[in-house]
Amino acid sequence: MLASDFSKLGSEITEVTKAGADWIHLDVMDGQFVPNLTFGPPVIASLRKYSNLHFDIHLMTKNPDDLISPLIDAGADSITLHLEASTNLQDVISEVISHGCKVGVAINPATHEEEILPFLPELDLVLVMSVVPGYGGQSFIPDSIDKVKRVSRIIDGVNKDIEIQVDGGVSTENSQALIEAGATVLVAGSFLFSDKDEMSNSILGLRGNSGLV
Ligand code: ZN
Repeated sequence: MLASDFSKLGSEITEVTKAGADWIHLDVMDGQFVPNLTFGPPVIASLRKYSNLHFDIHLMTKNPDDLISPLIDAGADSITLHLEASTNLQDVISEVISHGCKVGVAINPATHEEEILPFLPELDLVLVMSVVPGYGGQSFIPDSIDKVKRVSRIIDGVNKDIEIQVDGGVSTENSQALIEAGATVLVAGSFLFSDKDEMSNSILGLRGNSGLV
């Protein structure tokens, strides 16, 4: 939703829902871990009534610990934590799980994928950032496709169903390659909101013939 009109977030979420999206991806930024600021639990709670879709929280904050419980109370269905943001990541992962919420770990473009290894057995999702987080509308980093392949191989070595999500500059120019590389959840912002009348076709275009739902 980072690319949406924040003055009418509720109706924007309704439109994305009607257009056929599977999840609503909500970027929570604190102005510290990333330079930008967006919104937090009170806004997310007020958005809950606009869609029954899975609320996927991408938490880009310096101290995620204090936000877990409020985010889940606000209606989060999954929370993805940045590997670079916490010194006690394992504890925060455990806290998310203790609330019965799905949990993911995000890695920035500069972070090596093997750093996720210690956390994998507990994860539902790994988020490969294909831009440096902080702002919408950035260009996709092409090396991300190979990184998704490497993450996919790492996950194959663990006996668990783990989604591979890609976030940043995703469009029909890279979606097919990402899906072939092993991505199972594509986050799209600017690509969907650049032509709102075509949002439904844009979502179909991202799915391609992948059978991804
Ligand atoms: Zn995001």
